[in-house]
Amino acid sequence: MPRPTQITINLSALSQNAALTRTLAAGRKVMATVKADAYGHGARQVCDVLTPWVDAFAVAITEEAVALRDAGVSKPILVLEGPFDREDVEQITRYNLWSVIHSLHQVSLLNGSRQANSLTLWLKVDTGMHRLGIAPDRLPELVATLANEGHHPVTLMSHLAFAEQPESSVNQQQNTCWNDLLAGLGPYLASSLMNSAAITQQLALANDWLRPGYMLYGGQPSVHSRTLPLQPVMRLTSQVMALRRIPRGDSVGYGGRWVAQRDSQIATIAVGYADGYPRNLGNGTPVWIADRECPLVGRVSMDMITVDVTDHPHVHIGSEAELWGEHVAIDRLAELADTIGYELMARLPQRVIRRWHYTTENT
Ligand SMILES: *Cc1c(COP(=O)(O)O)cnc(C)c1O
Repeated sequence: MPRPTQITINLSALSQNAALTRTLAAGRKVMATVKADAYGHGARQVCDVLTPWVDAFAVAITEEAVALRDAGVSKPILVLEGPFDREDVEQITRYNLWSVIHSLHQVSLLNGSRQANSLTLWLKVDTGMHRLGIAPDRLPELVATLANEGHHPVTLMSHLAFAEQPESSVNQQQNTCWNDLLAGLGPYLASSLMNSAAITQQLALANDWLRPGYMLYGGQPSVHSRTLPLQPVMRLTSQVMALRRIPRGDSVGYGGRWVAQRDSQIATIAVGYADGYPRNLGNGTPVWIADRECPLVGRVSMDMITVDVTDHPHVHIGSEAELWGEHVAIDRLAELADTIGYELMARLPQRVIRRWHYTTENT
């Protein structure tokens, strides 16, 4: 028997989030972002469920796209970082993938390949995030160089640095830059700018292709979007593996970070930082056991945590504990761990068993 620490992926919730995204898209195209194994949810399973709801998929790197093609995914797949080398160009061609081109360097990689001029290319422009994309003033040169080689990009894309904060002035600057570029390039290029934060807040931006990721998995990308009925798809759960009474004044765990202020009942849960549960979580972090929140006490260990269940007489060995999911929202936990839910989803280690199901079970 494997230990009870597991990730459960609710594919019904995923479908519902996709349906909501479709509604918000209001006729625009939807490209589901499934990079990093669909943010830890299993890209193959996620693509199977999303296929009827979306027009295309996006991954970060060629290997991720090839794995999905090999698994039978036939919808368009865009490689968001484009080719790193000529071998990537070969793969992109052979597997009929769509590719981002973000630099003149990448154009030089294309030129080595004879079939590459039939590729579907998306041009990435840097409108102000300053991470990836051609500078706006070099875009005409990139387009001209591509045209010379017989390449005809179909979509212009960019990425927002501050979509979670609609009041930021950087949004205004990026939007102005974006509109100028689209006006200058003419109507033959489709546009793609909006991620989950932009979509959930319904930001008014020129955009033909939405690129949602996090919202499909039920994450709330911004405090401004928390009214939307997105369903959490992932639960990290484990079980109580031991129970003990300790007297007032004794401490619990490494370094004695927590000292009992009363005689206490301590439950040990089989989950730790090697299972993706952040080590920097403090005393008082909510852990959902049976039917209520109980406070984490003491340091998170590699394979175990300790929880104060003195006020919860029904806890027994084998009681289920939810670390995040339906009861403890991943965004809330991530904030307590000084990170974002994206990171918690994407860095789950191999040893945590993943299970996929369609209805809500174990709740
Ligand atoms: C990851 C990613 C997205 C999706 O972002 P979410 O915040 O998860 O919706 C969209 N576009 C690009 C370029 C990305 O890298």
